[in-house]
Amino acid sequence: MIKKIIFSLIIFALLIFGLLQLQFVQNQLADYTIRSQIYNVLVENSRMPSEDALSALICGSRSPVVASTERAETCTMIVAGNDVFIVDVGDGSVNNLRNWGVPFDQIKAVLITHLHSDHISDLADLHLMTWASKLPNEKSKLYVYGPLGIDAVTAGFELSYKLDYMYRNRHHGDKLMPLSSAGYIPKVFNEGNVLKFTDSELEIRPFSVMHSPVEPSFGLRFDYKGRSVVISGDTIPSDNVVKFASNADVLIHEAQSNYLVDLARDELERNENFLSKIMTDIKTYHTTPKDAARIAKKAEVKHLILNHLSPSPDGYVAKKFFSRGLNDIFEYWTIAEDGMMVSLPVGNAEINFSKFDR
Ligand SMILES: [Zn+2]
Ligand SMILES: [Zn+2]
Repeated sequence: MIKKIIFSLIIFALLIFGLLQLQFVQNQLADYTIRSQIYNVLVENSRMPSEDALSALICGSRSPVVASTERAETCTMIVAGNDVFIVDVGDGSVNNLRNWGVPFDQIKAVLITHLHSDHISDLADLHLMTWASKLPNEKSKLYVYGPLGIDAVTAGFELSYKLDYMYRNRHHGDKLMPLSSAGYIPKVFNEGNVLKFTDSELEIRPFSVMHSPVEPSFGLRFDYKGRSVVISGDTIPSDNVVKFASNADVLIHEAQSNYLVDLARDELERNENFLSKIMTDIKTYHTTPKDAARIAKKAEVKHLILNHLSPSPDGYVAKKFFSRGLNDIFEYWTIAEDGMMVSLPVGNAEINFSKFDR
């Protein structure tokens, strides 16, 4: 009986393999693949919130420490009504956004919490998507808000991509990719500023956090029609996060397991790898999951999302480890995943989670 089953499976596998060699079958599969990719771009926008809400989509959930096949570096997409903002844009995050078919034409601005590479490295790819996607009469350079020094960053990207802008303009023409809207408009923010945008009730408040030697370094609070999301940025435990996150619906706080970082350091030392020093250095400028929970409790937020995860807690056991002891401090927490969206509908107190998949 078992012999018969194995024989049938082998015949079946050979049949499938044979079919895949036929051009007709390849044509059908290619047609299906392209259709679904285009569908992603044109139709999947329907996964965006249909009701009036303030939402946050995690487009990257890891720190640069230890690679992960499941996660891009830090990125959060904030949606307020029809307006879209991208907060930090680390390695792999734009690939996520493209795969999910998010509406690049609705992006009003990028906000950068601080000028570490894992928060800015995909800026050029994001620029390409907004440059190409916006309608001809809505095209403009990409607004990038950030701390002092953001203008040097955008000027550097413009210099590096000057030839690329020219090639794409020559190839695709002035209507699709005009040189007049290639590049960035940098805007420096500070604590005390309230950022507002035309035709939007969203208010964004930057606040200082502690990520020395990175100075200045900011967190951001988003308020929209009575709902609120706070992003901590990279920081050690900070009273300013407690102050600005006070009574927020959702606090997205960075988190680092120093125990796991120590394990990584020990392993690197065993292998006499000089990168072990980094594992010692980073312990002094991040927040542990338990400290993030303490901050959430003090600030009396409704829900805590741990993000900028260091090292990446991939898999069931790693997540259990990362979240050990949290429930004793603060009950309402979630570990971020790429594609996780939290939506806060206007007019009620709901906190709804959903997932963007590829
Ligand atoms: Zn970072
Ligand atoms: Zn940082």
